[in-house]
Amino acid sequence: MAPDAALQKLMEGNGRSASDQLLHPNLTVERREAIVAKQNPFAVIVGCSDSRVPPEIIFDQGLGDLFIVRVAGNVVGPVELDSIEYAAKYLGASLIFVMGHQNCGAVSAVLKGQTAEIEDVANLIAPALEGKKNLSVEAAVKANVVYIVNSLKSLGDQSAVGYLSKAGKLKVVGGYYDLSSGKVLLIK
Ligand SMILES: [Zn+2]
Repeated sequence: MAPDAALQKLMEGNGRSASDQLLHPNLTVERREAIVAKQNPFAVIVGCSDSRVPPEIIFDQGLGDLFIVRVAGNVVGPVELDSIEYAAKYLGASLIFVMGHQNCGAVSAVLKGQTAEIEDVANLIAPALEGKKNLSVEAAVKANVVYIVNSLKSLGDQSAVGYLSKAGKLKVVGGYYDLSSGKVLLIK
């Protein structure tokens, strides 16, 4: 699937989800059996572990559709990057969607300087907020997404994300999920 088609598919799914019109695609026994030997997810979602932001529900997708990397603050360190690279290189995903969300506890903690218990996550969020003063939680969440998208986009040719992007076979985008409306807003 082309990157733009993958993005459209995600956003259409989010439209259904936000308007209470979930189709619950690809959850049949047939689908489950069809993907036993091989998966071919069309998108990678880099999302937060927060219980309110499950990508399959937010984007109304099913089994085998999304390759998901989920960690507090939707940060990308070496372990997360390995997963992303794998999906891009071997599974054919053509879109990497970095998704922050309203009221993210991990980003709030960094803003408040209360990071004693999430040091490693905080160390990955902090550079995104550096030099920015009096940020709201929403602005900080968005800055974190933009920072991660830019980091992924700046990967060089030694990285699958880098060379596939250059060849037009992969796109990296960022979004913000609004908890109350259920809508994902594209921000980058
Ligand atoms: Zn969060």
